[in-house]
Amino acid sequence: MPAAVVTGSSRGLGRAIALRFASDGYDVAVNYHSSDEAAAEVADAVRERGQEAVVVGADVSEPDGASRLVETAADEFGGVDHVVNNAGIDQHVYTESLSPADFDRIMDVNVNSAFNVTKAALSYLEASDDDPSVTNVSSILAHTGAPIECHYAASKGALISLTRSHAGDFAPGIRVNAIAPGHIETDMTADRTPEEKAEEMAGIPVGHFGQPADIAEAAAYLRDATFVTGETLNVNGGERMG
Ligand code: NAP
Repeated sequence: MPAAVVTGSSRGLGRAIALRFASDGYDVAVNYHSSDEAAAEVADAVRERGQEAVVVGADVSEPDGASRLVETAADEFGGVDHVVNNAGIDQHVYTESLSPADFDRIMDVNVNSAFNVTKAALSYLEASDDDPSVTNVSSILAHTGAPIECHYAASKGALISLTRSHAGDFAPGIRVNAIAPGHIETDMTADRTPEEKAEEMAGIPVGHFGQPADIAEAAAYLRDATFVTGETLNVNGGERMG
């Protein structure tokens, strides 16, 4: 069976991507940082879909954690065919109050993790005969910027540059793409006030927020899209077109 590593798959978008990949016939390495029970539930749901699952608690911002994740998946499944670099954190703070340590932490978790996991998986992806791919989860804020979270927006912009660089670096053989979600309803966006939600909704032409399954659909497309590499797929209900 082909196998995928999905970082940050205990909750939110990563969870939906892991379950979608399982439904599509992929074994899945479920990764989490602190939500061990939630990750175990995702693994059970993968197995209910007839696929193998392994749960790996690892901070993928650390090279050692990323290596352990990939090596565990490769040992369990006999290889790694697809990587989805989804793990991420955000923080709302204006630059005047933003500490260098917090800036670094966002970059470590959102950007360095993708480098770490992709690098650790490279030899397995090269050996795959399942049209291997890497998909990096960026954000609409990579394009628009975000005054209250400049470090988050910068990290997501860096992921798009990393995607294009790796797409060239690993071609032919491994395709590398990004997804730039708009507002998706997960824990990450649950802290918005009703006023903030109404304001955001007014800027979304389709008239509703996205769901994790919308991003899972995009991840499945990029996994299977044999003629697409180096691209960023915008999934944002029309909030930012083009
Ligand atoms: P979420 O609900 O907060 O889930 C984040 C996931 O990342 C959790 O599984 C978490 O694990 C994991 N994680 C965090 N730090 C980690 C680390 N150091 N090592 C390993 N795993 C780590 O977030 P989400 O909304 O699903 O977001 C997923 C991705 O989409 C992020 O990269 C985010 O920036 C991006 N995104 C989200 C939106 C949105 O509207 N929701 C929009 C654009 C982009 P634990 O459960 O163990 O903490």
